[in-house]
This record gives sequence, structure tokens and C-alpha cells, in this order.
Amino acid sequence: MDVKSLAVIGAGQMGGGIAQVAAQAGIQVALIDVNIAAAEKGLSKIGAGLGRLVEKGKITAEQRDAILGNITPAGDVAAARGFDFAVEAATENEELKKKLFHGIDEMVRDGGILATNTSSISITRIAASTKRPDRVIGMHFMNPVPVMKLVEVIRGAQTSDETYAVTKALAERLGKTTVLSRDFPGFIVNRILIPMLNEACYTLQEGIATVEDIDTAMKLGTNQPMGPLELADFIGLDTVKYIADVLHEGLGDPKYRPNPLLKQYVDAGWYGRKSGKGFYTYAK
Ligand code: NAD
Repeated sequence: MDVKSLAVIGAGQMGGGIAQVAAQAGIQVALIDVNIAAAEKGLSKIGAGLGRLVEKGKITAEQRDAILGNITPAGDVAAARGFDFAVEAATENEELKKKLFHGIDEMVRDGGILATNTSSISITRIAASTKRPDRVIGMHFMNPVPVMKLVEVIRGAQTSDETYAVTKALAERLGKTTVLSRDFPGFIVNRILIPMLNEACYTLQEGIATVEDIDTAMKLGTNQPMGPLELADFIGLDTVKYIADVLHEGLGDPKYRPNPLLKQYVDAGWYGRKSGKGFYTYAK
């Protein structure tokens, strides 16, 4: 199956990136959010990012215009009617995603594939909320999508071999390398990453070191490009906490319990980079 049209649901940081790489590969993209203004905001962020690439001489102004020309913003899932493939990248919340999948299932063409970019929610459960569980799959891009090479592909209990093959081929067409994960909480990357970020929060809460020293220690001591607290801010503390909750509940082991300081920051609305404050403060 050759994917010619792609609906991206959720025009935030991940959805915008997915729309961009698909449009760069010449695919027609509908970028859908809760309303047209939110979708247009997502599109203008893509335009700003591409504008920086033009300034740096990495792409031409004509290439930028062609990429943007492949993306149509929309405020309703009806824009996915008759599409070949959908990638859902809305807020990390199971009830919200199930509701969205119900709607996308009605719109994407028969035989089309419904993928989710969820960081942690069960693909099998999302699939069960549709009439085509064999054609539902996890397609977990990394942040920022245009830069990061990996896509984790997650097969739910009912995902078919063909759905897997088409999804893998699509990711490769977008310039990505795939790994295959079974459908268990956190998949591969977040199963390992989130406990590390959570532990960095405990290290801070227990007064063992400052935010800056924790990040410097892990950057210079383990050769990571970002420290764990900086990375948590970058991912979004609400998303980090949500995934920590899913690991805790899904694996049932107290070692995964979310850190209280992380919870408090989320309660305060300090979501990290996207809200202007997290472990660091950001100019908006
Ligand atoms: P975000 O907050 O930047 O964007 C979420 C978008 O979804 C927002 O624009 C919001 O308006 C939209 N949305 C909410 N309800 C919607 C609805 N009913 N219909 C359409 N759009 C709706 O979040 P994000 O960081 O882009 O994360 C999106 C998904 O990607 C989540 O499932 C998250 O777990 C996953 N993810 C995030 C990262 C990361 O580093 N942030 C990495 C990999 C995967």
C-alpha cells in the first residue's frame, strides 16, 4: 500500500513535526486540531521552523513553500475522510485518544491504517475502541521529529503483519529508522528513559544537588546531549508525569512511583518549556 494522504491529529509539537516530515516526503497532509485556529497555529510554527532552515541555506524558499503547500490545516477529523493513513498525536490521555479513534475510524478509508504517537498508552486498548483493530498500530516518533532518527513501531495484540509492514515502510520513507516493540507500558524508550527522569526529580527533591549540577553531571558524566531535568522540561512535565503514572499502574511495581515534586510542578501548571516554566524558566 502506497500512502498518498496522511491525517495528523493534534497540531502540537509532535503533530507539527510529523506533518512537516510527511509533507517533505511529498505526502498530502491534513493537520487537524480542536479548532481551525489551533491547527493554523501549528502550521505557522512549521513555517517558522522551515524559515530558519531557509536562512541557514539548508533549503530554498521554493522548497519551503512546496512543503507548506502539502499541508492543509483543519479543525475537525472530518478532514481525514477517505485518507490512507492517520497518525494521532493529541494530548496524552487515554479517554481522549479512544474518542478520537472512534471518530478517525469513521473517516479514514476502508483498509486505511490508524496509528498513534502515544508515548505510553496501550495500543491494544486503543485498537479495541475501533472497528479495525488489525489496522491500528503505535508509531512513536521522537522529539523533535524532523531531527530525531528513531520511530518505535508498536504492534498491538491484533495488529496485522500488513499493517506493520506498511507502517515500517512509511517511517523509512520519512527518513527514519524503526525498532519493533511489543505492547507493554513505556515500550522500549520510555520504559528506560522515564525512570531516569523521575530519579533526577528525586535527586533534586532530596537536596542532593542543584538543577544545574544534576544536568551537568549527566551531560558530562554519561555523554548525554541534554541533562535529565532539561530533557523533562523539553518533553513537557505533564507528559513525563502521565507516562510515569502509566508505568506505575501498568507494571504494578512501586519502583515506578511518580516523584512528588514532579507532581507538584504539574499541579502548578509548570509544564516546562511549553508553558514557560519547569525546572528552568523560558522566555515565551
Ligand atoms: P502538545 O501538548 O504539544 O500537543 C497536543 C495537541 O493536541 C495540542 O495542539 C492540542 O490542542 C491537541 N488536541 C487536544 N485534544 C484534541 C482533539 N480532541 N482533537 C484534536 N487535537 C487535540 O503535546 P505533544 O508533546 O505534541 O504530544 C502529543 C502526543 O505525542 C502525546 O501522545 C505524547 O505522549 C506523544 N509524544 C510526545 C513526545 C514529546 O517529547 N513531547 C515524544 C513522543 C511522543
